Amino acid sequence: DVPKIYVITPTYARLVQKAELTRLSHTFLHVPQLHWIVVEDSPHPTSLVTDFLAASGLTYTHLHKLTPKDRKLQEGDPSWLKPRGAEQRNEGLRWLREMGAAAEGKEAAALEEAVVYFADDDNTYSLQLFEEMRYTYRVSVWPVGLVGGMKFERPVVEDGKVVRFHTGWRPNRPFPIDMAGFAVSLRTVMTNPEARFDGDAQMGFLESSFLQNLVTMDDLEPKADLCTKVLVWHTRTEKPKMKREDALQKQGLGSDPDVEI
Ligand code: UDP
Ligand code: MN
Repeated sequence: DVPKIYVITPTYARLVQKAELTRLSHTFLHVPQLHWIVVEDSPHPTSLVTDFLAASGLTYTHLHKLTPKDRKLQEGDPSWLKPRGAEQRNEGLRWLREMGAAAEGKEAAALEEAVVYFADDDNTYSLQLFEEMRYTYRVSVWPVGLVGGMKFERPVVEDGKVVRFHTGWRPNRPFPIDMAGFAVSLRTVMTNPEARFDGDAQMGFLESSFLQNLVTMDDLEPKADLCTKVLVWHTRTEKPKMKREDALQKQGLGSDPDVEI
């Protein structure tokens, strides 16, 4: 069998959640040997996500971890104020380490080859991306489209090695790479049990808070034709306007709340 890909996805309840998860699951259904770790930002598993996963046809693990209130973005806060999804990605890592430690024999041997990827629920992923990351020794990297106020950001490769990063913003961050732009081998996650995302990290430093304990720039494995191809896009979904819904609701004519959307 080809190496397994463990995909960790933080997700939270909002109007577009089921639409995002539907789109994402349809991508993942095309990827062999993919195990989806869905981590809800909620105090308990929701029925929407529970039922959705059960019907998805994917191999999955359903976790939940509520972001503490002081770390959560409040309505009206600028979106860059606090990192999103940090606690949930750490919860996914915790599950992986526990699962990895308990594995024995053949199963443990297979996990030696596995890879971990952090896939937000709203991005757009090409199928080719998963084949690029599948064979990762330590940390593999590639370009990300439509991110950081740029057409794309990417590691710059010279003589087969990453030597710097093409980014428009704070290029001096240890790893100016978007969450969607790297994958880590499970072995690396297991041998660095303290590596995690710092939920208090400064804007733009969340990825670095994790990666700087795992690798140096010299170790990075450039994928996607030496980082010349964009295979993932940092798309963002518009928040649906509920003007009419709210108006109708005031007259007792809102959409039936028993219908799941
Ligand atoms: N997320 C979350 N809780 C939140 C906000 C976001 O779990 O309160 C998840 C979200 O579902 C996504 C990831 O964290 O998978 C990144 O969030 P978002 O896409 O909003 O970040 P951005 O694209 O703005 O960087
Ligand atoms: Mn996003």
